Amino acid sequence: MAYDFDLYVIGAGSGGVRAARFAAGFGAKVAVAESRYLGGTCVNVGCVPKKLLVYGAHFAEDFEQASGFGWSLDEAQFDWATLIANKDREINRLNGIYRNLLVNSGVTLHEGHAKIVDPHQVEINGERFTARNILIATGGWPQIPEIPGHEHAISSNQAFFLEELPKRVLVVGGGYIAVEFAGIFHGLGAETTLLYRGELFLRGFDVSVRKHLQEELTKRGMDLQFNADIERIDKQADGSLKITLKDGRQLEADCVFYATGRRPMLDNLGLENTGVKLDKKGFVEVDELYQTAEPSILALGDVIGRVQLTPVALAEGMAVARRLFKPEQYRAVDYKMIPTAVFSLPNIGTVGLTEEEAREAGHEVQIFESRFRPMKLTLTECQERTLMKLVVDAKTDKVLGCHMVGPEAGEIVQGLAIALKAGATKRDFDETIGVHPTAAEEFVTMRTPVAG
Ligand code: FAD
Ligand code: NDP
Repeated sequence: MAYDFDLYVIGAGSGGVRAARFAAGFGAKVAVAESRYLGGTCVNVGCVPKKLLVYGAHFAEDFEQASGFGWSLDEAQFDWATLIANKDREINRLNGIYRNLLVNSGVTLHEGHAKIVDPHQVEINGERFTARNILIATGGWPQIPEIPGHEHAISSNQAFFLEELPKRVLVVGGGYIAVEFAGIFHGLGAETTLLYRGELFLRGFDVSVRKHLQEELTKRGMDLQFNADIERIDKQADGSLKITLKDGRQLEADCVFYATGRRPMLDNLGLENTGVKLDKKGFVEVDELYQTAEPSILALGDVIGRVQLTPVALAEGMAVARRLFKPEQYRAVDYKMIPTAVFSLPNIGTVGLTEEEAREAGHEVQIFESRFRPMKLTLTECQERTLMKLVVDAKTDKVLGCHMVGPEAGEIVQGLAIALKAGATKRDFDETIGVHPTAAEEFVTMRTPVAG
């Protein structure tokens, strides 16, 4: 049977665009449907605008520290509306770039909500198109628990478009988004509380990193409330919010921001017309080749709920395009040693195993740790300290994990990730000559393992 397209991609986000462009480049006839915004979450309400706001928040401490270097400034003023307008302009520019990328690579772009009507057919804007393969790349959506008054809370989707900076913000959650946005609001001058249901935020990160960030955020004056959860939210006559916690305490805020994870975006997608199955958490179930239970349908990115990061969605998009249209170039995505950063203030950068994971996996580990006040701060009042940590296999000398909390941790860890991927040993680190004076050189000068 002749199909309208070889591949019909639903969702022009990180993974969908990558798969569509490469598939078209390999000679396939490709269409991509997008219902909201070109570039998806990352470009519009994720990585990119988030990083711009983090840069904005960082200026507060730059201004403070500048006086130690002889600069004097009149009192710095911040205007939220300017930051948001400039951010929106940049995102519009990026949307245009994504449009050109798709069109110039020969992909047909359909703007609207796509619904699968049978395993080889998609309906969009009242028209139906057939395809040999359909790729579900519809991403995720913020998930807010349905407590009484949850309608008064916002998610990251709204946070990027607030008309003004709230005076008092309560951020709920202890993952990437909660920690990053708490840093943004706090840095920009809002009174900020981070409320997390567990003992210590950032579950899954190395425990030294989690504790170090807790100390640094506390030093900066952020209110961290752990072992705390919200029972209900009530709007008061003056528009402010009264928050009742499960332990009976009450707090007040002008904005409650939930960052409690993301669900797969499957709304009105028509999966009931297919044999696609979902896993226990509700994400689309795929095998190692991103194949769903329906032979003609594949899925990738956040909607499969593996590793919800843009570079992972990109790698999966590339793998799918190659597998379908350039099988001789197919390489499986390697999910080990995925570096990641949390753009908190200060940043976290990490790659490889945490100390806890390494021990659980049966490694006999040696730990190298360094905490120091960065050189840039020595002329300032700022008491921020940087943490660097190496987890090493005592038997093989292989470096299993690198962890950092401090300025530019993400930038530094990207380079270290290559070394770890190449199987670097601690001896390789020791024999690498440092770049002086940098903070990063500390990673090649830690000589004595910590006791224990
Ligand atoms: P998405 O990028 O979400 O794209 C899915 C697209 O499908 C969307 O554009 C959606 O509109 C469209 N769509 C959905 N349903 C339909 C339909 N039926 N018809 C047509 N179109 C449809 N990752 C990082 O690596 N670094 C970061 O710093 C980072 N920061 C983040 C900050 C925030 C606040 C958030 C929310 C996420 C962040 N992420 C970050 C995660 C990253 O954004 C995602 O992992 C990535 O965007 C996933 O790509 P995707 O292609 O799977 O889905
Ligand atoms: P995460 O899964 O990272 O964190 C969710 C947090 O919410 C956890 O602390 C979790 O607690 C808590 N939580 C979950 N359900 C509830 C509930 N019902 N009540 C109270 N707390 C709850 O999700 P995020 O929303 O922060 O981010 C989604 C994903 O997007 C991230 O996992 C990451 O992959 C990606 N992302 C990446 C970024 C980056 O690369 N810099 C930045 C932002 C997002 P517990 O730990 O106890 O389960």
